[in-house]
Amino acid sequence: MIIVLKNADEKAIEIVSKEIESKGLTPHVSKGKERTIIGAIGDERLLDVDRLKSLPCVEKVMPILSPYKLVSREFYPENTIIKVNGFEIGSDKVIMIAGPCAVESEKLLLETAHAVKKAGASILRGSAFKPRTSPYDFQGLGEEGLKIMKKAKEETGLPIETEVMDTRHVGLVAKYVDILRIGARNMQNFDLLKEVGRVNKPVILKNGVASNMKEFLMAAEYIMSEGNSQVILCNRGIRSYEPELRFPVLSGMTSLLKQKTHLPVIVDPSHSTGKKSLIAPVSRAAIAEGADGLIVEVHSCPKEAKCDGPQQLTPPEFEKMMVELKKVATAVGRGV
Ligand code: PEP
Ligand code: MN
Repeated sequence: MIIVLKNADEKAIEIVSKEIESKGLTPHVSKGKERTIIGAIGDERLLDVDRLKSLPCVEKVMPILSPYKLVSREFYPENTIIKVNGFEIGSDKVIMIAGPCAVESEKLLLETAHAVKKAGASILRGSAFKPRTSPYDFQGLGEEGLKIMKKAKEETGLPIETEVMDTRHVGLVAKYVDILRIGARNMQNFDLLKEVGRVNKPVILKNGVASNMKEFLMAAEYIMSEGNSQVILCNRGIRSYEPELRFPVLSGMTSLLKQKTHLPVIVDPSHSTGKKSLIAPVSRAAIAEGADGLIVEVHSCPKEAKCDGPQQLTPPEFEKMMVELKKVATAVGRGV
């Protein structure tokens, strides 16, 4: 249920919140300029709607029809803007997150970090824990990789993001990085979602390759329901019948997500396509459609990469793409 208050002061907000709590539900308050919206999360049938309507400053009481509540635009009609070390995700500028698939060595990471910064990236990506299809493939450097990421942040000033795969690592990862990432394989790892929901840092949540939009948004709801509202949705495409396209980003999905939720939506052209030649076209399309950012794999020597070599751009390729993307962003009224 959402309760809309007009020109409400703290007292009015408290009265409504107490009424919600008295029925065993949890109030979530979002203050706008003129209106304050209080979401009552829990068993809505227990609420006394007539009583709520009679409380001071209450303008209307509406049920949230979607199964996801906190993530829905019905609950919070404005765009959520997430601030990371001076950068805003979800505002006018398209945010570029770039870096290698995995942190492989200090030398390679620092080279790539400086290169992506020079080309205009705002955030450095790099995984220290790798979810690999084969247990015999490179699994990541673990904490050593996190330390290297931190060093790259100190040298370049770029905020850093990395994947967290295990509930036992959430505290450790959160200690090192600015943004946590939940990968496609863990989109429905509910314990992990709850754990990152208790961290006060932004979380990039990638969709599972065989999940539908509702399941994706319910996963985001898990994070938000624990109190972390800094969720960035990442559209990384879904499994299709066309192996040449790997996991296509559906045309319209970014827009649909932005219509259904108030959360920023970024696109991953690298894991979606799996091939260098498609990264720039898919990125251009994503920005034209309204993505708030991209997360792109860049490696200073992709031929020697320990994972995802065929999809990692070289720094010059990334720089060239950035020039094109700036034009697209400008054409649709945004900057990069
Ligand atoms: C990644 O971004 O490093 C990754 C493994 O992607 P995904 O979880 O989308 O497969
Ligand atoms: Mn990768």
